[in-house]
Amino acid sequence: MSAAPAGAVLAPYAAHDEQSRGRRFPESRPEFRGEYQRDRDRIIHSNAFRRLVYKTQVFVNHEGDLYRTRVTHSIEVAQIARSVALALHLNEALTEAISLAHDLGHTPFGHAGQDALNECMRDYGGFEHNMQSLRVVDELEEHYAQFRGLNLTFECREGILKHASVRNARELGELGERFLNRHQPGLEAQIANLADEIAYNNHDVDDGIRAQLIDLPALRQVRMFRRQHDEVIRQYPDVGERRTVHETIRRMINYIVVDFIHTTQQQLDGLKPRSIDEVRAHAKPLAVLSEACSEEHLELKLFLREHVYRHYKVLRMTSKARRVLQQLFEAFFKDVSLMPTEHRDRALAAEKAGGVAGKARAVADYIAGMTDRYAILEHRRLFDPGERT
Ligand code: MG
Repeated sequence: MSAAPAGAVLAPYAAHDEQSRGRRFPESRPEFRGEYQRDRDRIIHSNAFRRLVYKTQVFVNHEGDLYRTRVTHSIEVAQIARSVALALHLNEALTEAISLAHDLGHTPFGHAGQDALNECMRDYGGFEHNMQSLRVVDELEEHYAQFRGLNLTFECREGILKHASVRNARELGELGERFLNRHQPGLEAQIANLADEIAYNNHDVDDGIRAQLIDLPALRQVRMFRRQHDEVIRQYPDVGERRTVHETIRRMINYIVVDFIHTTQQQLDGLKPRSIDEVRAHAKPLAVLSEACSEEHLELKLFLREHVYRHYKVLRMTSKARRVLQQLFEAFFKDVSLMPTEHRDRALAAEKAGGVAGKARAVADYIAGMTDRYAILEHRRLFDPGERT
């Protein structure tokens, strides 16, 4: 019996509870939930998940209350991914778990933060937010008496780890094998991965307009936007700009999601995988957009890069953020006793076990776990003589 909700029949190529490769520390099966529902619930109860409330997506948390944060982004990813998973008779709970966990390892200040930390960690194994998400669920969360981390299923962990360098893949054992063999994760992971892109490409249009970084005439150069925008204006000429723009974005998401479901279903109908392992054995993802939709989606992404991510106002914030994280890292790395006792002790133990790279990793863990506002506050406490410590 599958643990999917009553009435839902999972496809043979879905992730089935009873075929799971299991957890690192064996546990008895949950009584009233499926294995992947348990994964999702553990993620929601984690500290790292709550911290996402105050972490930047594109706009730093204090810039405005209406912008996406990491947590609202993750919920939008989960919403898109769950719709697709349900339509394709895949495991909704696993798809949701992967979506909610995919950004748990993000530093404060979004990609600027990750790049800064990666630079600081250059001689000590680097820093990559995706690897850090896995580290959070495997090692850093302290919630359960029996084990460190959340002890998630293999399928959830394989979904969280979207990419890995050859060196990291070798160290990851079973979880790293697919990067060496050029195999895929299960469909639930593939869907969460693409849903991430669909979510941010669309919500960054909304946030970019709200922040007045994007103007409509420029945005109308993007084919997918222009097509839906024309149609909305034709049907509803008098509803005002805000509703017109929201309706246009809503329709863009719908257009992409419908294409995603149809195209993936066609792939599955053609290739007829009989199990999740047959999905994994393919060299390319089976969950994809059609070529036409994918091209238009890319056009939107490039527009956002040019008009939002590289806008001078965003770049100013990211350069400030980079300096904050660099200075925090330098100060803590030079003198770990400046960190709160718990983190200092961890750094000392890590140094004893793994030398200077161990110490650097402990400092990176502390910084990566910070929210935007906590990082700003820590920076003030360290560098502003007028601030209480
Ligand atoms: Mg994301």
